[in-house]
Amino acid sequence: MGLIVQKFGGSSVADAESIKRVAARIAATKRSGQQVVVVVSAMGDTTDELIDLANQVSPMPNGRELDMLLTAGERISMALLAMAISNLGLEARSFTGSQAGIITTSTHGRARVIDVTPSRIQEALAEGAIAIVAGFQGVAQDTKDITTLGRGGSDTTAVALAAALDADVCEIYTDVDGVFSADPRIVPAARKLKSVTYEEMLELAASGAKVLHLRCVEYARRFNLPIHVRSSFSNLEGTWVVKDQPEGGSMEQAIISGIAHDKSEAKITIVGVPDRAGVAARIFQAIADNDINIDMIVQNVSAAATGLTDISFTLPRAEGSRATGIVQKLQGEIGFQSIQYDDQIGKLSLIGAGMRSHPGVTATFFAAMADAGVNIEMISTSEIRISIVCRESDVERAVKAAHTAFDLDADQVEAVVYGGSGR
Ligand code: ASP
Ligand code: MG
Repeated sequence: MGLIVQKFGGSSVADAESIKRVAARIAATKRSGQQVVVVVSAMGDTTDELIDLANQVSPMPNGRELDMLLTAGERISMALLAMAISNLGLEARSFTGSQAGIITTSTHGRARVIDVTPSRIQEALAEGAIAIVAGFQGVAQDTKDITTLGRGGSDTTAVALAAALDADVCEIYTDVDGVFSADPRIVPAARKLKSVTYEEMLELAASGAKVLHLRCVEYARRFNLPIHVRSSFSNLEGTWVVKDQPEGGSMEQAIISGIAHDKSEAKITIVGVPDRAGVAARIFQAIADNDINIDMIVQNVSAAATGLTDISFTLPRAEGSRATGIVQKLQGEIGFQSIQYDDQIGKLSLIGAGMRSHPGVTATFFAAMADAGVNIEMISTSEIRISIVCRESDVERAVKAAHTAFDLDADQVEAVVYGGSGR
């Protein structure tokens, strides 16, 4: 008998009708002879609504209490789903993350999974029941407090459980038919990828593709667990996220697998920084000490006459004002001239393992940007990715232009967006 973990996102369980539809799908899998563990997110926009509510009672809600509040969203959907399944004549038991043995660090709002001890899930399966687990949550090993894994964290719950239970596959059900060559909401001609490697998917997720949570892909790669991303609104085969492209597929393998974009970053430029050893280290140490993650960094060549240079870096917009304050405090010590803050930027990334062996990708990309009238402000690359920063208002045009330039446009529209508010 096989064991399959199925994860359903918020848009797949947005209301009672959807919960019944998902219950029928789970029941069919169970009746086909599989053991089934289900991980479920909060209904629709529940998590956002709970955050809004918290902000109405307190401008800075306490992390422990916010986690306690948010985990309630997933408890609602897990219990309703279990009821809907038992109404179909099968036994289903719901479990909180803590009951399911999801053990985490104690950093509220973005705890990391450090151990999974799913004995209660195994018992339920052995007794023939379907186990339903609340996604996105766990319990801290040291404080024993309830934690959450960060927005979109139910994917990670599903993969962590699948790995711990040695499942055959982790199916991630969402509101699109799989992983696309670009966001189908922006590029209607986006193609569905049959398969994508862990390393490409990691770059896509890190570059702003929201279809899978970054940490869930890291986790799946570590345990070599196949992920099947598919829609809960259709029966189509979705996208397989696996270690290597299937044999024979490499001949037609496109150079670029996908294009991701991100409008959630901001740029800080420190103008007139003395060009001497240790200055950059001082700035970035101060930012790191405050637990702020930065993304791209560009430092100009200093003008010989002044010995001064400019340093720009990007970071999540949500951290923008905090980071600006931290850098400002260093002005006296370092002696730079000024700080500029820009939150009107967007990022676009081309990802594909094929670019390792194909020269000219950058040239084609930049020519497409030039033709589309998109000015490139920053560039960063990895072995299989090229990212640029441009004006936020240019991003959608840039994504479409790059998609066409690399022959990614599908002949027929393949992308259907079934649900979700995109909130
Ligand atoms: N409900 C949580 C969120 O909206 C977790 C998830 O959906 O995976 O972020
Ligand atoms: Mg959600």
